[in-house]
Amino acid sequence: MRTPEHQAHDRDAADPGHRHLFHVPPADGGRYPEVAYLAGNSLGLQPRATRGELLADLDAWARLGVEGHLDAARPWLPYHELLTGPAARLVGARPAEVVVMNSLTVDLHLLMVSFYRPAGRRTRIVIEDTAFPSDSYAVRSQARFHGLDPDATVVRLTPRPGEDTLRTADVCDFLAAEGDTVALVLLGGVNYLTGELLDIPAITAAGRAAGAVVGWDLAHAAGNVPLALHDWDVDFAAWCSYKYLNAGPGALAGVFVHERHLGDPHLPRFEGWWSTEAATRFEMTPVSRPPATVEAWQISNPPILAMGPVRTSLEIFDAVGMPVLRERSLRLTGWLEHLLDEVTADRPLTVVTPRDPARRGCQLSVRIAGASAAELAKRLRYEHGVIADAREPDVVRFAPVPLYSTYHDCWRVADALAATVEGATS
Ligand SMILES: *Cc1c(COP(=O)(O)O)cnc(C)c1O
Repeated sequence: MRTPEHQAHDRDAADPGHRHLFHVPPADGGRYPEVAYLAGNSLGLQPRATRGELLADLDAWARLGVEGHLDAARPWLPYHELLTGPAARLVGARPAEVVVMNSLTVDLHLLMVSFYRPAGRRTRIVIEDTAFPSDSYAVRSQARFHGLDPDATVVRLTPRPGEDTLRTADVCDFLAAEGDTVALVLLGGVNYLTGELLDIPAITAAGRAAGAVVGWDLAHAAGNVPLALHDWDVDFAAWCSYKYLNAGPGALAGVFVHERHLGDPHLPRFEGWWSTEAATRFEMTPVSRPPATVEAWQISNPPILAMGPVRTSLEIFDAVGMPVLRERSLRLTGWLEHLLDEVTADRPLTVVTPRDPARRGCQLSVRIAGASAAELAKRLRYEHGVIADAREPDVVRFAPVPLYSTYHDCWRVADALAATVEGATS
């Protein structure tokens, strides 16, 4: 390590972020009191405010029973509306376009009920070859549900030979050439494995110009990069809240449907009593009256105790703002990149995430040649207190999260890699 440790401390003093709002797991011994937590892309840390807010919702239930639906300080019936404004601002949407409900893969299925409608020649679904497995399984099962052969229906986009990430132009060229056979484009905004941020507006425009519906899985993009889903004309999107959104393991997901689809009576949807307009819901009529908002995609009454942590988390994003977070993210990830360059130069390690900051969020993925990523991550964890995420066979992912990660966390990553992976000259 050429860069001395004190430089990291200097940067942290000058650019402290919002770490004080979070619980950072303690280290079990070792040189530092806390772990270096680089796995916020897998599970975000717990905001300090979450516990108290959750207990307040539990207390309302204890004191009020069923009357909490109307009488709780935050009444349960309209509780989900508290999340709408902040969630909409987070992804650049209008309030009518966003709702928090269910979990991510469930929501992708519900959205595909509406937006994957194979017909004639236009049957194919375009994903990335490195799509998150859940998305891959979801689209393959949708193909089967429509009586189609998943191998023939699902197109998996691959990078050019010798490259690790997709080129926007290649994706757009594919859509221009073969788009008349494509019913749905469903890509990850930020790829979970490589950390690549795709050009969402350009690919959305290319897909729509080809007559396809374009949806985005924003699991690794929401809370990581600025988004403008409405202006980008995205058809639909969904994201989970337990990665960058810090709402806890298995937290509820968010859904976006563009305004132009809202209130469309020809769009198939699965319905339940939460799909009908709130004003007449309790008239208990046999036929629903769906509102002209994305809430028409809701089905069940929402889990209030699961919504509290999402609300608490979104309040932090609302208060700090994505533009401020993105600025710190660029500084922090740039610093990690600089440190990794010092370490990887003479070691069998390669950063596979795009070098252009405009083409990535905060995550940097490192490939290790000829060794197991899981083994490496284990040694980083147990010898150095660095928590990162390994994806077999050979990628370890490091995510310096702009809300709470430090420059010193990044320094510890590079220092630990230098000590763990043997170099050509060491
Ligand atoms: C994390 C993640 C998921 C997880 O799906 P759940 O339904 O929340 O379990 C799905 N897709 C992507 C791209 C992810 O990153």
